[in-house]
Amino acid sequence: MNWDGPEADEQELDEKDEWQLYASAGYAEAEAVIEAEEADEAEGEEWFDGDDLEINGASIDWDAPPCPAPLGVAHIIKMGTCDHCLHRVAGRRTKARGGEGGREIRDDAHARDPELAKFGAPELCPLCEDLFVDVDNIVSRVFESTRGIEHSTMQFGIHLPKDLLQDEDRIRSRNGAPASRPLKAAFVDAIQEQLAEHMPDTSFVKEKPDLMILVDGLTLRVDIDVRPVFLYGRYRKLSREIPQTRWPCRACRGRDNGCESCQGTGLQYPDSVQDLIGEPIRAALQAEDTSFHGMGREDIDVRCLGSGRPFVLEVKNPLLRKTDLAELVAAVNESSRGLVEVGQLEWSDRKRIGRVKETRSDKSYTIRFRVDDIPSEETVQEAISGLSGVELKQETPKRVSHRRAAKTRKRRIVSISDLEVDEDEVQMTLRCEAGTYIKELVHSDEGRTVPSVSGVLDRGCEVIWLDVEEIHAD
Ligand SMILES: [Zn+2]
Ligand SMILES: [Zn+2]
Repeated sequence: MNWDGPEADEQELDEKDEWQLYASAGYAEAEAVIEAEEADEAEGEEWFDGDDLEINGASIDWDAPPCPAPLGVAHIIKMGTCDHCLHRVAGRRTKARGGEGGREIRDDAHARDPELAKFGAPELCPLCEDLFVDVDNIVSRVFESTRGIEHSTMQFGIHLPKDLLQDEDRIRSRNGAPASRPLKAAFVDAIQEQLAEHMPDTSFVKEKPDLMILVDGLTLRVDIDVRPVFLYGRYRKLSREIPQTRWPCRACRGRDNGCESCQGTGLQYPDSVQDLIGEPIRAALQAEDTSFHGMGREDIDVRCLGSGRPFVLEVKNPLLRKTDLAELVAAVNESSRGLVEVGQLEWSDRKRIGRVKETRSDKSYTIRFRVDDIPSEETVQEAISGLSGVELKQETPKRVSHRRAAKTRKRRIVSISDLEVDEDEVQMTLRCEAGTYIKELVHSDEGRTVPSVSGVLDRGCEVIWLDVEEIHAD
């Protein structure tokens, strides 16, 4: 074949168009007719009544009206449509559903026109390629593979070859009754109807399922995706030695069952807020793993007190998903050795993660620091109180500059209170806008934060400890 030049392309297009005409309207029935004829010839019977064009499919009314007209129904029967597809595209009222309903329609049509019966059993349904034959098989696979996974809802995702869907759509819109059920939807209906008999407690849904069932219509492979559960809560971190989320070991990066320096844990810190909260919950729900989504985070050496920091725990692949939340809270608080506490938990969803991550709320802190060559208490009180209500300009701190873009941010100190001077140490409580770097506000980060406590005192300041006192969320 010559591929270059517009003429060749045109010819190619014509051939293609012809093929499509043939494929969508004639191919399947022509094949069925030929096979039926061969079978009949073998039995020595003449089954068609004198129309020589029959063999080319010409006795089939190409301009047949769509179903539910009797001629339309006759037409799709001649095509070799299976009982399932007959039921869904014929647009006829039947007593039974599915394939059985299709048989009723076929019997009625045969009674109207005995000639139709000669078309015999279809070889391969042009609308579904006999997909419905596999429903039993798929149903038992779904039933077997979801056994022992707690769930109340299921959603089906079906993969079917695109060309099958396109061909089906073409035939259905030309010959089927208006508003006939499309193949994919009808196939899912058939599976669900049969599955419902095995699983009376399962509801089939179109969104947010407990189990997502993925069926490949070509290979009949069935995959079960156990959707995660989400828990919302607030945590208090009472230790100055644990990170919020798991940190992989710096030496081995957590690979290959850890190394000597992490004692085979793969972790830089054996404990984290994520695991202290997540592990007992993961175990209780017989899940695979967790993800932890906090409303910001505190440094490892910073405690988080008050009503705690909001978080969403994502529990992946849980075999159980119904449980008493108070029991989970108790399990966490018993196993966390006083390092972390959770007040209460509530069921949540993935959307909550976004809300928790986006929320920008004021925070209150208590900080204690040492002042070089400390001035009189009166001077300290006056200088620091002057910072209340002031807007800070903070360049990205040196300690985080390796992972954050350099920029100057403006943050307001809402208030300063409870300022105490104890020899060369100062302790105070302050409320600031979200995203304020508090340690930098005190020691000035070599002048990157202006103004600062160090700046107004004109002295070096060294932070001793810092607590998040309250996160003013909700
Ligand atoms: Zn079919
Ligand atoms: Zn290691």
